[in-house]
Amino acid sequence: MSDTGTRPFCGPATEQQWIRPRIARITHVDLAVSIDLERQRIEGTVEHRCEFHDRRSGRILELDQHDLEIRSVEIDGRPAAFTTADNRLAIPIADALATASVRVSFIADHPAKGMYFIPADPSRAQVAMCWTQGAMEDHSHWFPCFDSPNNLSTWRIGVRHRSSLIAVANGVKEPATAPVDGWTTSVYVQDRPHVVYLVNVVVGDFAEVRDDSGPVPIAHYVPRGREAEGAAMFRATGFAIRWLSDYIGLAFPWPRYGHVVVHKFMWGGMENATLTTITDRVLMDAQVQAREDIDCDSLVIHELVHQWYGDLLTMKGWSDIWLNESFATYLEARCAAAWRAQGDSSREADELALLLWIDRRAYLDEDSGRYRRALVTNRYEDAYELFDRVAYEKGCLVLHQLCRRLGEERFRAALTLYTSRHAHDLVETADFRQALEDATGEPLDWYFDQWVHRAGHPRIKARWRHDPVRGALVVDLEQTHASAKPASEQHVLTHRLAIEVVWPVTGSRDLERRRIELVRAVDTLVLPCPAAPAWVALDPDGDLLAEWDEDADATQLCARLQDHRLGADARARAAVA
Ligand SMILES: [Zn+2]
Repeated sequence: MSDTGTRPFCGPATEQQWIRPRIARITHVDLAVSIDLERQRIEGTVEHRCEFHDRRSGRILELDQHDLEIRSVEIDGRPAAFTTADNRLAIPIADALATASVRVSFIADHPAKGMYFIPADPSRAQVAMCWTQGAMEDHSHWFPCFDSPNNLSTWRIGVRHRSSLIAVANGVKEPATAPVDGWTTSVYVQDRPHVVYLVNVVVGDFAEVRDDSGPVPIAHYVPRGREAEGAAMFRATGFAIRWLSDYIGLAFPWPRYGHVVVHKFMWGGMENATLTTITDRVLMDAQVQAREDIDCDSLVIHELVHQWYGDLLTMKGWSDIWLNESFATYLEARCAAAWRAQGDSSREADELALLLWIDRRAYLDEDSGRYRRALVTNRYEDAYELFDRVAYEKGCLVLHQLCRRLGEERFRAALTLYTSRHAHDLVETADFRQALEDATGEPLDWYFDQWVHRAGHPRIKARWRHDPVRGALVVDLEQTHASAKPASEQHVLTHRLAIEVVWPVTGSRDLERRRIELVRAVDTLVLPCPAAPAWVALDPDGDLLAEWDEDADATQLCARLQDHRLGADARARAAVA
């Protein structure tokens, strides 16, 4: 076995990233901008309502800004001093103030990031538009803000734009005002708080596609002329809102939902609160989707999951990004399997097994080919680096494994507790663990140490034989990732694993199932089994995130492959063994 997966994620000099300090809670942001698509220019004001933590003297409110022209600053309606340096706008706060309304007047001209301008190009079916992408910390390239995830605000976003275009943003739209000289102001109010990177402002030549399939009003915005494709692309939305609300045990947390489809988007989708941005690369009608075997539904579901995990609950710092992406990847798989199966539970299990198999392959490829890191790490150069197969696929498999270990009912109870306890709040990994322990009564410190804070996964060598004298199945198990190391390291590397062992009962249609707890690097299990079984399968449902080295002859593997009493995972593993 090659020594794979041991390359480090970052160099020894990579510094730790800590949560950014702040002197105030910014409870509300009122953004009023005029957006000129032709001139690629944004001009306006942003007002931050601040509640200061204390009244220490010498306080400076620091907002982020990149290449903005700051025209003036007012505090509670009076002109205030300010300086700009190192991409920050620094505003001294008078000692007496416990709260303040800080209003900044600014211009952004051809912003390098944050807001992107796309000209119309009929030859490419491209309409004129501008769209924003805040994640990770890019909104400060087009308006001054506290551009960090550790603050929650309510929002009012007013956009003055050409009357021939549509403007959409987070929240609920207020009644439109009458156009003046060909310009209209559209105002959106978001009265449920979320972090700054989830702000979404889009202006363009869009058509609205209404969707009556959900428990909240749903509207999608697509480039004008692409309405039929939009309806096909978002067909899973209503089903997924209902399924996720039921599974999580918490209703959809926002007053409305929808997507806006944009050109030249750098990601597949971005889960902006109430209004997901999505790439036009998957904007196609149902026939093309079927013919090209393109799965738009999983992308739509993934972004929808984030309305709970990412938007309703947001990680306090990027180190805990798995609380967004692993949850979205796992519930995407669960919901997509249910959507595809349309009520057929055995097909749903097979669909889920397939999706998790793909996730496992993606993670293992990265682990063997690129690097290995723990799910939670604060050592990185740029937050973008954390959006990898560990944050998405490994975390997804760690959650699935946890669900299988606890059982569906207890896992869902914990998910409901975690989600309701921290709704509209910032979270870190310890909050999730605490909710799991409170809901189940089961200490999970060891599980989080093993799977969340430690890098990698176990490799298990398994050999079995039937002992006719003892009437027993003898299973030798070795955690080779640990057993190969010096004794002093073995106890740290050895995983605690619940493993199911299954075999067919000779002369019967029954399967014998035994669940064993492996806690040593090397162990031998003796299980009562009077007659030699046709095959043996370990972890038949693929619950564990492990690499298996199974030694069985071809006859046994063929028998296992063809036995439909087994789940898809165990059959598939027999096929590739
Ligand atoms: Zn995601």
